[in-house]
Amino acid sequence: MTDDRGERIVMTVFAHPDDAELCCFGLLAKLRKSGWRVVLVIATLGENGADATAWSREAEARAAAEGLGAEIVFGQFRDGYVPRSAELVGWVEALLEAYRPQMIISHFSGDSRTTHQDHAAVEAAAQIAARRAWWRPTLLLAEGLDNDVSFRPNWFVDITDEFASKMIAIGLHASQGGKYYMAPDYLEVRARKWSLNFRIPPGQPLSKCYWEAFQLVQHAI
Ligand SMILES: [Zn+2]
Repeated sequence: MTDDRGERIVMTVFAHPDDAELCCFGLLAKLRKSGWRVVLVIATLGENGADATAWSREAEARAAAEGLGAEIVFGQFRDGYVPRSAELVGWVEALLEAYRPQMIISHFSGDSRTTHQDHAAVEAAAQIAARRAWWRPTLLLAEGLDNDVSFRPNWFVDITDEFASKMIAIGLHASQGGKYYMAPDYLEVRARKWSLNFRIPPGQPLSKCYWEAFQLVQHAI
């Protein structure tokens, strides 16, 4: 049993090679600093997102994982066609059983108008698998890439100290550089907006506060 080894493991369950860096790299970096083992599970190789003759999205993800000190597991689901299926749930369940993470992070895909269909399928599988896991892992859903009014975060992480490394990790996904959500100013606004929920520590300028936001779905003590 994982807990018997005293090992703390966080597992991300995302659809595409850049999702973890965009949605929760700051939290992962913070946990790594605290000694957590980080396992990045990615359902597809992201082949729809870039010309495979020019780019390797798998290599980009592996480089980002290496910088984080994380392990990485790729699925063989087809990018853009990840099915809501027993096969997907079974794949996630098998990985949960193999690693027994105390914390799972997946997509928030509440608004079907703005979410990616792969994100919705992967989130559903993560929800089902986390609910079934007998060791009752914590489940967090990370803010998506688009503005979604149904996202009501209740779990926040101050990533001010991790923001620079997050930007470097996102930059490693060079094949995605043209996407609007990869633009540094957009990423900065995303990371700064949640700081408006909190008091700023004395002496710290608001312009230097960066956050990630999550919806806590399951947490047992
Ligand atoms: Zn994605």
